[in-house]
Amino acid sequence: MLTPDATGYTRAAALLGEGQLVAFPTETVYGLGGDARNDMAVARIFEAKGRPRFNPLIVHVPSAKVARTYVDWTDEADRLASAFWPGPMTLVLPLKPDSDLSPLVTADLPTLAIRVPEHPVAKSLLEAFGGPVAAPSANPSGKISPTSAAHVSAGLSGRIAGILDGGTCGVGLESTILGLVDGPTLLRPGGLPQEAVEAALGAPIAHHQSGDPLTAPGQMTSHYAPGAPMRLNVTKIRAGESLLGFGPVEARLNLSRAGDLTEAAANLFGHLHAMDALKPEVIAVSPIPDHGLGRAINDRLRRAAAPRT
Ligand code: AMP
Ligand code: MG
Repeated sequence: MLTPDATGYTRAAALLGEGQLVAFPTETVYGLGGDARNDMAVARIFEAKGRPRFNPLIVHVPSAKVARTYVDWTDEADRLASAFWPGPMTLVLPLKPDSDLSPLVTADLPTLAIRVPEHPVAKSLLEAFGGPVAAPSANPSGKISPTSAAHVSAGLSGRIAGILDGGTCGVGLESTILGLVDGPTLLRPGGLPQEAVEAALGAPIAHHQSGDPLTAPGQMTSHYAPGAPMRLNVTKIRAGESLLGFGPVEARLNLSRAGDLTEAAANLFGHLHAMDALKPEVIAVSPIPDHGLGRAINDRLRRAAAPRT
């Protein structure tokens, strides 16, 4: 447990710098923070939460000025950011192609969800760290979002490096997520009311249909497909196949020679892109154990290998 004072922020920032995870309060709920540029740190977020899928995470930055260095900014973004940042609003915008973010943060999507939190502890942590922090809610997957340090500790103790104790969260609801890629769209209702958003824009906003757009299988399937067909659970490669390995096997690229699932998750998207660039006839993939992060890795591999339409 870290106290939110100079010593606590220095320690928390140092842990983030080492790729460790630190939970911290925001005005919405407690976030489970990791360096958004560090593949291993982001993989650890999914591991600590026990998430069965690599869904995209929200990146937290200290100001709209910093946000603009990561995404293609628009007039609507400008109006909303001026009105509601810092605050419980997340904007989804096109990710700048040359960004230094881990592809795991966006689940390899070409868009980024980004937010400037208002909570003083979150602000001080971002300032002390000086980099973008990926942070979903600090609870095990499928459990209720935490609004106190005690909640975080009850759910994640032993799985994360530190918790900045900033008392109870004021809003207690997740941030409102607004998509600005195809006209303003409410992707998730949250702490900022829709009416406030519409008043700031001077126009009604569209609603996204029920369910999470990004984890809807149809949309994901095509996005994750490399150019070459894929064959999974391969222990013996055939002629024309290039192996994306796992464990101590002879392979073109290896997700983790040591058989470490966190390392494999950290490498997954980067290695898929790299395999694709080699233009093999077929990408064969070693079996990945179907437990822990292996479940999320296998979920993505199945989508990538799904028949193309
Ligand atoms: P959490 O960080 O757990 O509060 O959840 C993040 C939410 O933001 C999820 O519902 C994601 O689907 C959504 N999200 C994150 N990135 C994007 C994106 N690039 N486009 C649309 N939605 C996103
Ligand atoms: Mg959550």
